[in-house]
Order: sequence, then structure tokens, then C-alpha cells
Amino acid sequence: MLKQRPFLIETLTAVGLIVAPFVLPHLGFAPNTVNRILVWGLFGLGFDILFGFTGLLSFGQSAFYGTGGFVAAYLLTRAGFSNVLGALVIGMIAAAATGYLIGLIALRRTGIYFAMITVAIAEVFFFVEFNPLSDFTGGENGLPGVPAPSFNLGFTTIHFTDGWSLYQFIALCYFIGIIIALRIVRSPVGAILSAIRDNPLRASAVGHNIHGYKLTAFVIAAAYAGFAGGLLGVLQAFMPPDAFTFDTSGQLVMQTAIGGRGTLFGPLVGATVWLFLQDFLQSALGLGAAWKLVLGVVFVLLVCFLRGGIIGGLVDLYGLVFGKHKRTEAEPDAEVTQPPAPAPMQARKVEHPAYSGPILKATGLTKRYGGLVANSDIDFSVNQGELRGIIGPNGAGKSTFFKMLTCEVPPTSGQIVFGGRDITGLKVTEVCQLGLTKSYQVNQLFTGLTVRQNLTIAALAELRGKFRLDLFRTLSGVKGLTEQVEHTLALVNLTRRADTPVSELAYGEKRRLEIGLALATSPRLLLLDEPLAGMSPRERVETVKLLKSIARGRTMIIIDHDMDSLFELVERVTVLQEGRVLVSGTPEEIKTNAAVQEAYLGGVHGEIAA
Ligand code: ADP
Repeated sequence: MLKQRPFLIETLTAVGLIVAPFVLPHLGFAPNTVNRILVWGLFGLGFDILFGFTGLLSFGQSAFYGTGGFVAAYLLTRAGFSNVLGALVIGMIAAAATGYLIGLIALRRTGIYFAMITVAIAEVFFFVEFNPLSDFTGGENGLPGVPAPSFNLGFTTIHFTDGWSLYQFIALCYFIGIIIALRIVRSPVGAILSAIRDNPLRASAVGHNIHGYKLTAFVIAAAYAGFAGGLLGVLQAFMPPDAFTFDTSGQLVMQTAIGGRGTLFGPLVGATVWLFLQDFLQSALGLGAAWKLVLGVVFVLLVCFLRGGIIGGLVDLYGLVFGKHKRTEAEPDAEVTQPPAPAPMQARKVEHPAYSGPILKATGLTKRYGGLVANSDIDFSVNQGELRGIIGPNGAGKSTFFKMLTCEVPPTSGQIVFGGRDITGLKVTEVCQLGLTKSYQVNQLFTGLTVRQNLTIAALAELRGKFRLDLFRTLSGVKGLTEQVEHTLALVNLTRRADTPVSELAYGEKRRLEIGLALATSPRLLLLDEPLAGMSPRERVETVKLLKSIARGRTMIIIDHDMDSLFELVERVTVLQEGRVLVSGTPEEIKTNAAVQEAYLGGVHGEIAA
């Protein structure tokens, strides 16, 4: 929704902010309430990029809100600084720098451990603010006397004092905040953040430095929090110590969940509900502190029945009424049997142009899991342009071998040389950047995205490298991206399903997309781990045809159990048994090899795959 009509959202936001002072008073909103909602909304923009878009639930945002707020307030009340906007920006920078340092620590863990670290860090900040730093922060008293902003234009000075006058300043800040946030979520970085939320493992396997991007989201969230914290001081003419409390972090999480995560406007809507209920229930109905009981019930109901929050519910409703998702039909099988022949994609730069040996050479590769030896002393090499098959009974160590080659798991001993370069011990992201990647035995897709968006994520890794902060570039501004995505769509025969969400794909289509994700990174060596797994006989025949068309001009290693299909595809086969190489040879040699027959069938039957 955010991407289709970019300027519509900006325009509607501007119109909304302009008409709000004329409409909201009639609905019972005091200007001060509206200003507070906007501050929460601005605070939440960064948090939504972190939580909604990147999937990182932090309970520590109060640390940055407080840091930005107190730095700005200190400058304005105690350090003789008179430029309010300048102080807010300095507070924001201080919060972002703090976010960078905290992020370095917190992002070492994921999931609940990440959340727990953020809670602990926020508590530390709260303690530090109240005790060692109380001379600077005013401790329990906070910092009174924060001035309102004013701008000297030479011929006149504009003062934004309070109420609707101050609203103009805060609304402008919010508007700039939303413009920046929209740019970020529509940028290549924004696309990658969503991929990290959906499937961090695959995002790093296609070549993105996910730690760097997560840290970026963390710093962005801290920066927004810092600026909003400064605005809170300006709004109240007083920087309150409770900006640092856990309640602040918790309230932000709940408001975002109520409004709808991953929408940017969710925190604003959530804050509106929260503050309206607070005012209405506390004053109008005289419930006092019991208002939180009602809020709790509202929260539980919303989370149970509207998992995407209020905005998510509205979007679903819109989809129901106007049939937003035009469902595309599954492609007819006939198309699969006649895959198009797209123009060859530009090959990846070769690391060592002078190198002429095998593209991949593994020596003495061994992997132990405790006492179990999954791979033992494997010597293996593949030449440029070769199509190699790997077979072996279940548990023979085939997948482990692939995982070591792509550096998903480190070998216990041995060496892997790719394109003349020793890649042993590198990370999966770096190896993919060098041009070696695989498709997974069990699909590893970005399930919340469409087919095109999936391939875009993979192609971006090749076109932009593993980390780049092009936060304000649009996806269409990435040179070669559209061509690469379209080319891959055609290669895996998913062009007509390009805008279909992954969740709506048939199984065979998902398998093709799985291969497409690896292909979109333009690998020099492609490993396919059981590409035919789980397919019906008919789908297998079609996928083998597809693989044949993909194989032209590529170097590939394919694991599969379906020997008929595999022998049709590859030029040489390596047989693994109990973690060792049993034999290597042409399909014909393997079919008639007595040791292979023994391994598969105990030697009682005739030729395998006969
Ligand atoms: P294949 O792909 O040929 O079926 P695998 O490589 O998956 O074989 O497994 C080889 C052996 O290593 C099996 O005995 C398996 O149980 C073991 N293994 C694989 N991964 C792990 C792991 N992460 N921890 C412990 N044992 C493992």
C-alpha cells in the first residue's frame, strides 16, 4: 500500500495535519492532547521501523527518548543554549549515538533475549538519570523552564508558544518525520529490513549484512525517539523524569500494537486511542486510575481480533470491500514445459581473473557433531561450467556438505577454495557475495512478501553489495534491478505470478521461487539442495526441464534423491555414503557401479535407476 501511490500518503498527511485544528476541537480534543499525540506518533515512527518493519521488539525506547529529551532540555535550561531546534537536533544526535552503542550490544542476541537486553538497558538509563546524573537531569524534579521555539526571520520573529500555536511547530516536525520515514521504508534498505523481519537466515544467505541493517534500524529508532523526547520537554515547558521509565517504553509498544505495526501511522493512531480514552474515561466518566482497566480490555480485544491493529483492520476491510488483491491464476503447466529463453544475465566479476583451476575445491572436509561424524575427509572438486550431481542414502551427509561449502556451518577440519580463494571460515553472506549460493532443501522464502519482492531482495544483494546506506534512494533508482528481477522471474517461470504474495503460491511455484532466490544473486556456482523434494511426478518432469534451461552456461551442483531425474541433468555424479565419498563418475558409470548398488539396495537388485 505504501509503495503504490507514494505521493498520496504525503498529501493526505499534510491535509490531515492542516485540517486537524479545525476538526479535532469539535471531537473533544484539546490542543495539548493533539500535541502529545503527535509527539508519541513521531516517537513511534522510528519504533515502527524497528519493530513493525524489521521485527525487532525493543522495550528500551525510553532510554533514547529520555537521552534526547534531557540533552535538549539541559542545553536549553542550563547551558545557555537558545536555539530550540538546534537543541532538539543535538538531542537527536546524542540519542542516535547512544542507540548505536546500545545496538552493538543488544543486537548480539535475537528474539526474547534481545527484548530482555533492551529492558535491562532502559532500567540502567533510568537509574543513571536519577542517581549519578541527577545534577544534570534534575533527578526527580526533572528540568523546568524549557523554552518554546521561535524563529527570527529578520523582519519578524515567529513564536510558537503553546496550544495550537505550538501545534504548528510539532505538526511540521511530524510531517518531516513521516516524509523521511516513508523514504526509508521505500528505499532498498527498507526492503531489506522487511526481508530481515520475514526470514533473517535467508536475508543473510542471499548476501546482506543483516547485523548492519538491524543496527541501522536501531539507530533510526533511537534518533526519532531522541527528537520526540526533546519535543516533549518543549511541549510541557518541562522535561519530566518519567520519560526514562519503563512505562514509556511499554506505552509505545502498546500504542503501536493498537494502531497497527508496520504501517508507520500505527503509533499515531494508537496514541490517539490511548490519550482519548485517558482523557475521556478519567475526566468525563470520572474513572480515575481505573481507566487503565478499560484500556487493558480494549488492548486485549484489539490484539485478539485485529492482529494488524486498527490500521491493519481497516486495510483488510478495504481489501474485502474493493477486492484489493487481484488474484493471479496459477500458471498453466503448458507454460512450464516451454520456459522462455531470456537473454543471459551479466556474469559476476571473477575474483581472480588469472585463476584457471577448478571453481571449487574442497580438501579433507570433515564435520563432527559431538561423536557423530557427518562428513569425513571429503576431497571434492568441480570445474567451471560443470553440472555435478550428488546422491547418497538419507543421512549420508549431503546437506551437511552443502552447508559447509556455503559456509553456513564451519568445517571441523579441511579447506574450501572457491575461485582460487580460500573461503574456509568466511560467513555465508561473504561467500554469497563472492558468487556461491544455494537453494534450500526446505523452502526459505520471505513469506510476507510477493514473488517480485522476494527476488528484489536477492538481486539487491548482488547489485548493492552486502551493506549500503542508501536510505533515500528509491528501488527504481537501483540500476539494473528491474532487469535482473524480470530476468529471474522469466528463468523460473513466475513472471505471471510476480505480484502474488508467497502465501498464495502453489507448492511447485514456491520451489521455483526458492531456486529463483539463489539465481537472482547471479551466482558463479549454484548449489541446489533437493530441488525436486516434495514434488509430484508431473511437477518433477516439468522442474527438470526448467533446471535444464537454467543450467545452460552455469556451474551447478545438485543433490537429489530422484536419480532418474538427476542423471538426466548432470554430467558427473558423486556418491556419498556415511559421510565419505564412495565414488565419482558419469551417470552411466554410477548406474552400473557395484559399490553404489550395494549402498542403495544391498546389492540384491539390478542396476539402480534402471
Ligand atoms: P543427508 O542430507 O545426506 O540426509 P545430513 O547431512 O542431513 O544427511 O546428515 C548427516 C548426519 O549428520 C545425520 O546423521 C544427521 O543426523 C547429522 N546431523 C546433521 N545436522 C546435524 C546437527 N545440526 N547436529 C547434529 N547432527 C546433525
